[in-house]
Amino acid sequence: MNKGILFIMSGPSGTGKGTICSKLLENKANDVFLSVSSTTREIRKDEIEGVTYNYTTLDHFKEMIDKGEMLEYAVYSGNYYGTPKKAVEDILSEGKNVLLEIEPQGALKVKSIFPEAVLMFILPPSMKELRKRLKVRGRETDEQIDERIEAARWEFEQSQKYNYLFVNDDLDECVKKIEETMKQKIQGKNLVNKLLAE
Ligand code: 5GP
Repeated sequence: MNKGILFIMSGPSGTGKGTICSKLLENKANDVFLSVSSTTREIRKDEIEGVTYNYTTLDHFKEMIDKGEMLEYAVYSGNYYGTPKKAVEDILSEGKNVLLEIEPQGALKVKSIFPEAVLMFILPPSMKELRKRLKVRGRETDEQIDERIEAARWEFEQSQKYNYLFVNDDLDECVKKIEETMKQKIQGKNLVNKLLAE
């Protein structure tokens, strides 16, 4: 019961969930630790090894799966992404809260292992806006943007299995609402622990 809370954040590419997670950690409104995933994809120029991801080879990734070291993993746009089991379990058992920024297949797998995990999903205000954000970001070709939009449709359907949906229309507003939700969950858990100890 004294375990920390496992928060999971998902949302299609272009919804701003990466920025939102950075802000949540930066603002320190809640005591949460971001879990660093492993991936087989190439490092991007604004990313830091061991901070953004642990970058690894496909062989090593598969070895980690075989050894049972992944809490979950998924293939996204041809690359493997996975959550380290031990790191997450260790933080939770110390009573600290963990935030995972992962896609829906992985999120729902984690929910099946930890039913008490809190699943949060970020929606864009419209498809038009999502496409515009992907275009402005300039990371993908038009064809890749079409693929991301198609993937987003599937993700929107999965969002119905999440506990909370947030619309990222105004970034600061959205971050504030997420912080409040997380705070309520954390305070609720602390109070229950206190009541049970009385
Ligand atoms: P990106 O390559 O843009 O950093 O991430 C692509 C997608 O993979 C994003 O939706 C991101 O949330 C997801 N992702 C990142 N790490 C993990 C992970 O450990 N497991 C799963 N299932 N998805 C992840």
